[in-house]
Amino acid sequence: MARERLYLFDTTLRDGAQTNGVDFTLHDKLVIAAMLDDLGIDYVEGGYPGANPTDTELFGEDRKLATTFTAFGVTRRPGRSASNDPGLAALLAARADAICFVAKSWDFHVRVALETTEGENLASIRDSVRAARAKGREVLLDCEHFFDGFKANPAYALACAEAAYDEGARWIVLCDTNGGTLPHEVEAIVGAVVKKIPGDRVGIHAHNDTEQAVANSLAAVRAGARQIQGTLNGLGERCGNANLVSLIPTLKMKPEFAEKFEIAVSEEKLKSLVHVSRSLDEILNRAPNRHAPYVGESAFATKAGIHASAILKEPATYEHVAPETIGNRRKLLVSDQGGRSNVLAELDRIGLKVDRNDPRVARLLDVVKEREAAGYAYEAADASFELLARRMLGQVPAFFEVTQFDVNVEQRINAKGERVTVTMAVVKVKVGEESLISAAEGNGPVNALDLALRKDLGKYQKYIEGLKLTDYRVRILNAGTEAVTRVLIESEDEAGEHWTTVGVSANIIDASFQALMDSIVYKLIKSAAPA
Ligand SMILES: [Zn+2]
Repeated sequence: MARERLYLFDTTLRDGAQTNGVDFTLHDKLVIAAMLDDLGIDYVEGGYPGANPTDTELFGEDRKLATTFTAFGVTRRPGRSASNDPGLAALLAARADAICFVAKSWDFHVRVALETTEGENLASIRDSVRAARAKGREVLLDCEHFFDGFKANPAYALACAEAAYDEGARWIVLCDTNGGTLPHEVEAIVGAVVKKIPGDRVGIHAHNDTEQAVANSLAAVRAGARQIQGTLNGLGERCGNANLVSLIPTLKMKPEFAEKFEIAVSEEKLKSLVHVSRSLDEILNRAPNRHAPYVGESAFATKAGIHASAILKEPATYEHVAPETIGNRRKLLVSDQGGRSNVLAELDRIGLKVDRNDPRVARLLDVVKEREAAGYAYEAADASFELLARRMLGQVPAFFEVTQFDVNVEQRINAKGERVTVTMAVVKVKVGEESLISAAEGNGPVNALDLALRKDLGKYQKYIEGLKLTDYRVRILNAGTEAVTRVLIESEDEAGEHWTTVGVSANIIDASFQALMDSIVYKLIKSAAPA
């Protein structure tokens, strides 16, 4: 049986840009739009042309994307004609393939927020859709507060939707603007709407205020809607929008949806999902959510020893889908609870061929257990584990040696009479026969130490040029009888690869230094730097 087409609409650049602390530049928007286009998203909503300079510029020229590049804006203002509304004129002038209008569909909002009549709001919807259609644009109508409006006055909410449909809008999008509607309500209300408007003209726009935006989107599809609006990583104001990164694999891999529907994201592109998700975090300078479904670092991580050995025999025993399908990987955590099979599986993944009865495997396991008892966390620090394993096998050259370092933190009153804290680090490094000294100022001791350490590594400098730290986490632990500090550092290189290293010490600078050193040495090995 031919599968029905289900369309995906991304609003990361419009609704997602409403997130606290998110401020996309024009360049960011272009990069994200290209990424969504490549993934196979049908519609990419770029923003509000006319509302701010970035979006006006974004829509100032043709984007040459395969996706339907969509501009967003409000319907004509009450009491104005469509031809005499500057906001609408800017929207119609935008170089967009489609226009998504937003309009009120809750009678209470029409009276209180818009201060107009129900009839005038309907006329505004009709006029705006007609004007955009006359310009040759595909038209969508976002029915704001549709679900709350439908509960209060179903006839009026439906009248708003039908006004747009009758004028030829391609999609009537039902918005759960306040995000408080539950899946069974969404299913019932969408079910009622598709009796009036064909489901292949109906979309869902869910917000995540009860953590059910994904479930609500799927409920709407079950009831007949055929377009889902959402954002990458569930970005969006308050608790976010429906997360496309969770929806896409569910639609592709869960039989109830996969057998019935087809989306434009191919199996090949599905494998880039982890990369897409992390690239957005990278642009936003955020640490990726380790526990994100499907794409998180921990989404396929198993800790306990018996689970791990079962997974090695048959992955389906503990995994709901295969991690490789979305570009993720299985992770057997090497920890005090894990056994020999975890260690062997990790060595295999790293590409280190060792016989399972090699005494070095047992020794490595002992060292891991010993160090974890002292506070190290190898399950979180894959790169430090790899170095530990390689050292045990004699595969880590002595690239360079830090013979001495000094970190100085000084607080004083500056010339303007302000209290400032200044940090400086000096590092002495020996590379072969060469001795190098570097100094750097930083916004804190670890930052200064990192900058000094990476300033000059002589012949190795070229290998670490693209290295940067993306996250730094500190925890105080009680290991044995004394309190120690554990530092986890996440690094990234020019190829976009991430790794995590760990350091443990009673002294936070020393712990940070260990993790920094592991990160640099790991990068040198990864780049096949000569010994
Ligand atoms: Zn929204």
